[in-house]
Amino acid sequence: MSMESIVSLCKRRGFLFQSSEIYGGLQGFWDYGPLGVELKRNVKEAWWSDMVSGHDDMSTLDGAPLPYSMEGLDCTILMHPQVWKCSGHYDLFHDYMVDCRETKKRYRHDQLNGRWVEAKGQKVFVAVAAGDDELEVMTKRALKFFKLRNKNIDDLKWDGDSVCLTSIDDLSQVVGPDAKTVGTLTEPREFNLMFKTYVGALSGEEGAAFMRPETAQGIFVNFKNVLDSTRHRLPLGIAQIGKSFRNEITPRNFTFRSREFEQMEIEFFCHPDQSQDWYRFWRDRRMAWYHQMGIGQERLIMREHAPDELAHYSVGTADIEYAFPFMADGEYGELEGVSHRGDFDLRSHMEGKLDESTKPLAVQLGEDGKPKYRGSGKDLSYRDDLTNEKYVPHVIEPSAGADRAALAFICEAYTEDQQPDEKGKMQTRTVMKFHPRLAPIKAAVLPLVKKDGMPEVAKEIYLDLKKNYKVFYDEKGAVGRRYRRQDEAGTPYCITVDGQTLEDKTVTIRDRDSLEQVRVKIDECEQVIRERMNG
Ligand code: ATP
Repeated sequence: MSMESIVSLCKRRGFLFQSSEIYGGLQGFWDYGPLGVELKRNVKEAWWSDMVSGHDDMSTLDGAPLPYSMEGLDCTILMHPQVWKCSGHYDLFHDYMVDCRETKKRYRHDQLNGRWVEAKGQKVFVAVAAGDDELEVMTKRALKFFKLRNKNIDDLKWDGDSVCLTSIDDLSQVVGPDAKTVGTLTEPREFNLMFKTYVGALSGEEGAAFMRPETAQGIFVNFKNVLDSTRHRLPLGIAQIGKSFRNEITPRNFTFRSREFEQMEIEFFCHPDQSQDWYRFWRDRRMAWYHQMGIGQERLIMREHAPDELAHYSVGTADIEYAFPFMADGEYGELEGVSHRGDFDLRSHMEGKLDESTKPLAVQLGEDGKPKYRGSGKDLSYRDDLTNEKYVPHVIEPSAGADRAALAFICEAYTEDQQPDEKGKMQTRTVMKFHPRLAPIKAAVLPLVKKDGMPEVAKEIYLDLKKNYKVFYDEKGAVGRRYRRQDEAGTPYCITVDGQTLEDKTVTIRDRDSLEQVRVKIDECEQVIRERMNG
């Protein structure tokens, strides 16, 4: 399966379009087409219903250490600027970038790889975008730089393996990914990933605000509001789905790294003594969810961060990663991070008071050793009514990307198989094998031919199913071609009205994956589909 075929199907069938395409597009921004919007809604709805609204708060289902509650929130994208100062994003949410003085292009410092190579008495470090075909690209770039032909490829004397540009101290010997000359890359500079905007008529710094780079902070600052308005006891999870914005230096790999994207986040508040158990619980539960939604075992891994990879406040982080087809063999891309954040966030939004025991987890310190930014001054600790114990809860954060999940489901669903056409000739069939809960269209209703009263019966079935499901009616062209169009859209069931329907009020239901057709009574159609979708 190649990424090109997947991208081309996404455009052709209306899953994803480049944003503002008619004007040449805007890098890092993507629009969901008619099928894509349904898929992404289904991803979000499955997450919300499995994690929040359908959650059973009376039991310890799924191996939870204790019964727990879940609530939702929908916060604004722009928040008080102090939120981002206290959260650490204002000072610390940055990547390093290098600019090319020759081509004016900008790259993320840690996303360029290269190798030392010598020819014609000169030794340079050839840098290219890290990825699958980097060695091939490096060779082409080296030949071009030294003005050598392919047949002189042996004149290139390579020294060492491919390494990240971050390991090169002196950039004057580096040939940038698109440059003709050597030494055109600037020294790495910090680049804050938050988009800045201005609120109201004030255009100066007083009006400056930031587009949220994560939905989590809205949850932390509303923690007390949710507790007070719902009267839940901890453990309590608060969930939010919404847009986030990051001015990524090098957006790439289709929607994987976008500048505007949607997150599905849970902040789970619990007693510090139970936090490790809850951390394990959420890691396993989230991993199991992707499996339940159809991601194969062999393409999903859980990667526990090494201690030196952890953010300074984090007690533990595990990434759930998927083997996207654009990654090199054996490499995976992050779908979701599950972190144990201790009490860092709530403490940061409190007064900024420090006590000795929590110092390493507390808000950033200024040079004078005092908190750099003042918190809200509000007490965000929790008092348990039954035990009367007061504490600052610890937080477990499963933070997923809706777009990355949708992309993983698209990649996983994409299948090509060989099937006979009407004349018995083998043809390649492209089929999107989405889990029925995620499929953009649940069923297509097709009259076998456009006469003999078949369309009328089919339309009745269509209108009836439409009340509860996203269904599609199609009467145009040969039925085999209509089936194949539905296979490409990932529609799990095709209901066909044929000659026999008019005699005994039965229809056939064709299964997208097994291609099996069963005959059922029209009245039972909806029930059969419901059972199969849930089964
Ligand atoms: P990465 O290392 O890939 O930049 P991250 O570790 O910064 O990701 P988090 O801050 O943990 O990501 O965000 C949580 C989730 O939000 C990610 O697992 C991912 O699914 C999603 N996400 C983050 N950045 C992007 C982006 N630029 N485009 C699409 N989804 C994103």
